Amino acid sequence: MIRALHHQLVNKELSAVELTDKYLQGIHTQDSVLHAYITVTEKKAKTAARKVDEKIARGEEIGLLEGIPMSVKDNISTKGITTSCGSAMLRDYQPVYDAHVVEQLKNAGAILLGKTNMDEFGMGSTGESSYYGATKNPYHTDCVPGGSSGGGAVSVAADMAVFGLGSDTGGSVRQPASFCGVVGFKPTYGAVSRFGLIAYASSLDQIGILAKNTEDTAIVFDTVSEFDCRDATHRKRNKIATVSELQKPLTGKKIGVLKELMQGISSELEQLLLASVEVFCGLGAEVVEVSVPELALSLPVYYILACGECASNLARFDGVRYGTRTKNYDTIEEMIVNSRTEGFGFEVKQRIMMGNYFLRSVNYDNYYKKAQEGRAALCDAVKQCFEEVDMLLSPTVHTTAFPFGSLTDAVSRYKTDLCTVLANLCGLPAISIPCGYDEKGLPFGLQLMGNQFCEHTVLNFAYQYEQATGESRKPTVGGDSVGI
Ligand code: GLN
Repeated sequence: MIRALHHQLVNKELSAVELTDKYLQGIHTQDSVLHAYITVTEKKAKTAARKVDEKIARGEEIGLLEGIPMSVKDNISTKGITTSCGSAMLRDYQPVYDAHVVEQLKNAGAILLGKTNMDEFGMGSTGESSYYGATKNPYHTDCVPGGSSGGGAVSVAADMAVFGLGSDTGGSVRQPASFCGVVGFKPTYGAVSRFGLIAYASSLDQIGILAKNTEDTAIVFDTVSEFDCRDATHRKRNKIATVSELQKPLTGKKIGVLKELMQGISSELEQLLLASVEVFCGLGAEVVEVSVPELALSLPVYYILACGECASNLARFDGVRYGTRTKNYDTIEEMIVNSRTEGFGFEVKQRIMMGNYFLRSVNYDNYYKKAQEGRAALCDAVKQCFEEVDMLLSPTVHTTAFPFGSLTDAVSRYKTDLCTVLANLCGLPAISIPCGYDEKGLPFGLQLMGNQFCEHTVLNFAYQYEQATGESRKPTVGGDSVGI
């Protein structure tokens, strides 16, 4: 898609202003229903697009991303543009700098259309915890879009951006991608700088990409993964351009189907995954079953660590150092308490409380330390898997998108992250690609997980799968008219 749009721009079949207008029009006509955006930066987008057109008119060469409209999740800093994290706490916050990824994309000439809706501070899997109201799934507006990067996934699915940036702490890029029928890619921990990403759980957070297909994902990844010394965990490596690896044949490669993540799935999903396995076999790969019994630990381990880190990271929002200050106080203690009480929503408060409970000195050994041991055991087991196979395969989520309000208790919501948290706990690159539809026409995602810093391999496998199966279908906005 990006390549085709680029050719149209270069051949003057379409101007950058026209392209930007087309996507802004998509926002105007659909977003009052879908609510994918918190802020739309229409004026800035048009100015940036005009600059690209001037460059083309002068006969200068333009890069692949120049003039391409994008969305950015509202927890990724954008200079002078509100970055709220989906929270009342940051409703007035305008960063004074751009995140590294935004800097890279701006330098590459991509056009920012706006900031996308999200679960508050990235905590959630349904989009329901946003202070600004939930985003709707474009396949069926009664259903959740997934979360926490629900706005980003919907912006891409409903043609309100060509690609989007999201963040993935436990599945927040891949899970909404699965629910909205788009590609969602979480790179290796340390492959993309987190400078300017507002932290939820720092040892798990990673900026990811939402796009219509794998090639677009690879183009964006190659741009945003440029080295940045401002994130101490960003690793300098001899980078392989993932775009140049997409065409590689899969002959002789080995895929491991994760047994534990296949248990309890519907026969509908099982059929789709078996068909995917057939596709990979047809492409020359060998498919085997692998077992990681430690996966039984992954959800409790993830939620203990994520809550612990969130309690610590969010301590800075006190109305003094960061965050909107309450108007309602007499003493400094009241000011801090009321700022936090008014600024945070229920889910965030719940997680801060759980996190502080796990981190209390009397509980630390029983929860946080044990969870760290569990994480180490999971990583050891996964390392062993990659001695045998090149890629791990599983569903992205066990279900398709479900109706709003249907998962009322926290545990059942947390369970939707079963297949995605492993990649975060072990820092692996992982992608969700559309692999079929349920009987209601809602999309399912297939997850591929590679070894650390093997984004080129993950994108290669996904691209080959896509080429063999054809691109995903386009959603129809509003109600039951799905399954075009
Ligand atoms: N659903 C998970 C959580 O609530 C993952 C969120 C994310 O990746 N940001 O923690």
